[in-house]
Amino acid sequence: MNSTQRIARDIESLGVISEIQGIGCTRYTYTKEFKEARDYIIAQMKEAGLNVREDAVGSIIGRLEGTDPGLPIIMTGSHFDTVKTGGRFDGAAGVVAALETARRFHEEGFKPRRSIEFVALPEEEGARFGGGLFASRAMCGQLYPNEVFERKDANGITMAEAMKDYGLDPAKTDDAIRTDGQLGMFLELHIEQGPVLEKEGIDVGLVEAIVGLECYVLKIHGRSDHAGNTPMNMRADTMLAAAKAITAATEKAIELQEGTVVTFGRVETIPGAFNIVAKETELSIDCRSKTLENVHAVIDTLKASLEQSIRENPGLSYELTRTLDADPVLSNEYAMELMEKLAGEEGLSCRRMLSGAGHDAMIMASKCPVAMIFVPSKEGRSHVPEEWTDYDQLEKGARLLYRCVKELAMDEDSTR
Ligand SMILES: [Zn+2]
Repeated sequence: MNSTQRIARDIESLGVISEIQGIGCTRYTYTKEFKEARDYIIAQMKEAGLNVREDAVGSIIGRLEGTDPGLPIIMTGSHFDTVKTGGRFDGAAGVVAALETARRFHEEGFKPRRSIEFVALPEEEGARFGGGLFASRAMCGQLYPNEVFERKDANGITMAEAMKDYGLDPAKTDDAIRTDGQLGMFLELHIEQGPVLEKEGIDVGLVEAIVGLECYVLKIHGRSDHAGNTPMNMRADTMLAAAKAITAATEKAIELQEGTVVTFGRVETIPGAFNIVAKETELSIDCRSKTLENVHAVIDTLKASLEQSIRENPGLSYELTRTLDADPVLSNEYAMELMEKLAGEEGLSCRRMLSGAGHDAMIMASKCPVAMIFVPSKEGRSHVPEEWTDYDQLEKGARLLYRCVKELAMDEDSTR
């Protein structure tokens, strides 16, 4: 079998384990399907000559020992849990690319200077327990106190109970923490989950930053009146103020560029009737960008629009509450330049881009430099059964990962 065939076999094997005909892949952390996937990944790692262990939260770690144990290690991989009825590629693509890299090293008898760890991580999506980015947070010492005893799935099973059933000791999650200086670089291949690479016909994306984000809930207060008998200039219509604010913020996001996006995905009005002016409008705001300055500029524009509405109509008021925020994470410049060079040597077209979604690499950045490779997603679809990446496209990304890990694993300079 060639590289593409082995990649296809891995993706299909992992898919079949957790697929119900026609409605996608559901592989929740620590379930029966998850155990089967674990067994498959461990068998593949062993066949590739790796020393395999599982850490305290169930991250599968296949290690290829380096000749210089003093140097920080190179780590590569992704997650192997999925969302509910998701696709075959989200997470699995990066795990399989890591497996294929290990197999190629094994075939060549490659002896790296730095040790390499190939990893498959649980509970990145948080689909079962709501604790997203769990395994990388565990490695970086970012679990909340008692997190595994408090988080429950939809059936009331705590994460701790599920861990015990899976063969892990929930009291020992701290054992997963990696010491500072141990990791030299974390590389993650992932599907793009957006349409850009396919639209532009580009083989691989080099993620220069994972965007920062802020989420808010906006409540606008006004007054309900009869939709027929209240003239337009005598209303305190919260929906109108919301519409103006949405338009202003959206135009600002378009003007700023740098991956700035703003989404108002949920809108509710009170009383919510077709013939009554809405006395209250509540909406969700999700704003992301390469810099937090851009995010703040969008939110400031939104506020300025609301203030303007209030000046025109003193019957209106608003409350804006922040519900979530995360700083942007920049990729390692040395790794990106290396990947650009290697992509050129392999004849692969590539471009730098932003990731609008969070990934384990974002958390790992608190321990070591990180870089990410994106491969195209058909029609940009993800978290759906139709999620697809052509196997030869995935092979191109995996080949770039292989070249990059190989270069980095021979690099003596541990300061990069
Ligand atoms: Zn993912």
